[in-house]
Order: sequence, then structure tokens, then C-alpha cells
Amino acid sequence: MSWEPDKPHEECGVFGMYDLDGNDVASSIYYGLFALQHRGQESCGIAVSDTFGPRKVDLLKGMGLVNEVFNQENIASLKGNIGVGHCRYSTAGESIPSNAQPLVINYVKGTLMLAHNGNLINANELREELAYTGAIFQTTIDSEVIAYHIARERIKTKTAEQAVVNAMKKIKGAYALVVSSPRKLIGARDPYGFKPLCIGKRDNAYILASETCALDTIDAEFVRDVEPGEVVVIDKDGIKSDRSLCLKPEEQARCVFEYIYFARPDSNFDGTSVYHSRIMAGKFLAMDSPVDADIVVGVPESGNAAAMGYAMQSGIPYGTAFIKNAYVGRTFIKPQQKSRESSVRVKLNVLKEAVNGKRVVMIDDSIVRGTTSDRIVQMLKDAGATEVHVRISSPPFISECYFGTDVPNKEQLIAHNRTIEDIRQVIGSDSLAYLSIDRLIELSGGKSICKGCFTGEYPMEPPTEDIRGEYDK
Ligand code: SF4
Repeated sequence: MSWEPDKPHEECGVFGMYDLDGNDVASSIYYGLFALQHRGQESCGIAVSDTFGPRKVDLLKGMGLVNEVFNQENIASLKGNIGVGHCRYSTAGESIPSNAQPLVINYVKGTLMLAHNGNLINANELREELAYTGAIFQTTIDSEVIAYHIARERIKTKTAEQAVVNAMKKIKGAYALVVSSPRKLIGARDPYGFKPLCIGKRDNAYILASETCALDTIDAEFVRDVEPGEVVVIDKDGIKSDRSLCLKPEEQARCVFEYIYFARPDSNFDGTSVYHSRIMAGKFLAMDSPVDADIVVGVPESGNAAAMGYAMQSGIPYGTAFIKNAYVGRTFIKPQQKSRESSVRVKLNVLKEAVNGKRVVMIDDSIVRGTTSDRIVQMLKDAGATEVHVRISSPPFISECYFGTDVPNKEQLIAHNRTIEDIRQVIGSDSLAYLSIDRLIELSGGKSICKGCFTGEYPMEPPTEDIRGEYDK
């Protein structure tokens, strides 16, 4: 569980690497996962094998952060020049060790390693079908359903990549996949492109990663994004591509919340800098919802770039009002209800000198349940702010997400059945404004997006049942 209060969580980060010269890849995968840690902090894992030797997979996975699960000794014991890594936050499937990824499947054609970011909306159906034909599942995650389908298709097809394409025709929902067959590294993105996936290169090694920040960390160069619906295959002959499942550009549906909050600001996603998107969101807020004030501040970290954009556009000085305690981790003990300490105060403190006697514009990226915004507004007022104007760099959440983030059920969302004025009263600010839905498309540089949690209209028919399924309740 991230320390971030009242924010949705991403499901996972994926990373794969194939060194054609035969060098071990485990330590680079470790650093790649470390850069993707913000995408999932519950469990992580690395699987590697040697394309020159007998197909033996070394796998290590466990509960916890990347630097808790791995150390110098166990990384050194992972031998192989092709591998897959994963870090996970569960939105489907319990938070238990057996659900950690990568998954490694041994079958008649060899071994398959798989890491998945996203959420299938027909996983229950597919799992039931497989179970009736004798499949025995070792996990409760939908990623195992994908692995099974690829393995089954592989028996009927000539190549591993064709097996992935065939499996993609059956699975529905959001996925960025990194798969390794004995001598190939395969990357795939669902046809809507909900989740990001990019290709990098370092010397004679190829990389697939959820975000470009992971390429920077290991000093790899960015080659390109995997396109929505594309399957890329990396083997000794370089990169090949299958685009038979790609949709028209206007039918694609990137998760716009990647730009607003999930992705790191130093990443680029389908040609657009996440930092630039957040600056733009702040500028739009200043244009559409201006206010007289003395200082603009961001709620760290994700509100900071939008606050900078608001300041640039409005001419109101940008400042720092919040100091975050950098040492709050997953093991943070929540204060008891009746104790004088509050979770928010332990994590965040206000710089009184910055806000005392000032009219403050406070920029945050989202309000989900509204459980912390009132406290943060009150902290600014307690520190002497004469007015607090809240600006949110996304539209109000009014509906759940089925595609791999944990935006909760409608009933839990503060904006469900409430007006903006109702919400303003709940959080106690002097004014409140959100980014307008019409501005969202500009955050992705004009590329087609999913905005289902802000509109209730999804790019594909949402499931009618609880997609966690019986096995997971
Ligand atoms: S519903 Fe919202 S969080 Fe989910 S994929 Fe669409 S934009 Fe992203």
C-alpha cells in the first residue's frame, strides 16, 4: 500500500530484457523495477534464463518493495541473459505471495515467463472455461489465465508471437504484457492501449518497460513505444512487429490518469511528456478557474507540476507549502482514531512561513473519497492562510475503473451524487474547481484516451458482475 492518502493505485510495473551478447540481465532488471516501484509496492519478482544454455529458469519473487525482496547475493544468483521483472499492487487477485509475478509456466514447448500490467474484464469466464478442461490454477490472478491461453495457443501455432496474438483475440480488457519464450522476448499492448509499454536498447540488449524512466535508470536509449494492439518480438534478428490487432487511432483508449497521476513525471507515454501534461493541466486550471491569490502550492509530489503550470499561466508566484516525510513506507503504523496524531500530519507538514497571512491556491491531482483533503485545507488555515482555493488537475471521479486501477465503486467516491459546491463544503475550502473533461484530450497530446472514471462511459462494455470473481472473495 502506498503511503499516498486518498489516491487511486496503479496495478503493476513490467520490465523485460534480452541481452543478445549473453550478459546477465538480473541486475539491470532490478534497477528497472526500482524505477517502476511507484506502480506497485506489494510484491515483486524477477525470472531469468540463458538463451545459450539449457532452458532453466531462475525465479525469485516475494512480498515487499524491490529493495526488500532483492539483495546483492540473491541478484547474483539469478543467471541468464533473458528475463522478465514485475512489481505489483493488487486490484484483482489477493495480496498473497503466490500471486506475485512473474509467472513461470512449464509446458510441452518449454518454459514461459510472463509479467502483466492491467486487468481483464473477462477473466472469470476464461478461467471457468479453462478449469472445465482440466486446468489447475496456482494463483487467483488474471495473469495466469493469459499465461495459460498463450501456452495452449502455442501448441497449435508455429511461433510464440502468433500464440500471443491468438491469446489476445480471447482476452478482453487492459494489459501490457512482457513474455519470454525460450529465445524470444515478446511485448504486447491491448488494442485500446490502456497501459503504457515502451522499447529501449542498450548496447546489444533490448528492453521492454512500462515507463521510459526505467530506461533512463539503466542508461538505455528509448527506441519507441509499443503501439496499442501491437505485438513486438525481440530475438537474435532484432525487433519484429505484428499489428494485426491494432485499432484505428480514434478507437484507442489510453488511461488518461497515467498522465495525471500514475506515471512518473520524467516518463514519456506515446509521444507526450508526463511532466508537460501536468504543467498543461495546471495552465488550463488557471485559464478556466482563475482566482486572486498570493501563492500557488502543490500537494506533493504529483500536484507540484500542475501547481507550476498554474503559477506560470496566472503570474501568481509558485511556492512550497508542504514538507513530506520521506521515510513513510508501507509499514507505517496508522495512528489510532482517538490519538492526537493524524496520518496526514505525520506524512505532511506545512511551512508556516510560506503561507501565513496569504491567499493560497492549492493544487492536487485528484480527490477520490475526500478523506484527506479537508485535513490538508485545515492545516493551511491553521498555519495562517487567509484563504485556501483548491484546484484539482483532473475532473471529478464519478465512476469506478475496470481496467487495472483501484478507483473504487461509485458509492465511495466523494463526487458521486454531489455537486462541486457540496464537495467544497465537505473539504472546507474557500473555492474549489476541477479540470474540465474537455481538457483531458489535450493532456495526451490529442491521442485518443479512456476517461471512463470521469464520465461513466467506457471504451468497452464494462462487466456486469464483480470481476474479482468467486475465487478471490
Ligand atoms: S476508467 Fe479511469 S483510471 Fe480506469 S483506465 Fe479509464 S481513465 Fe484510467
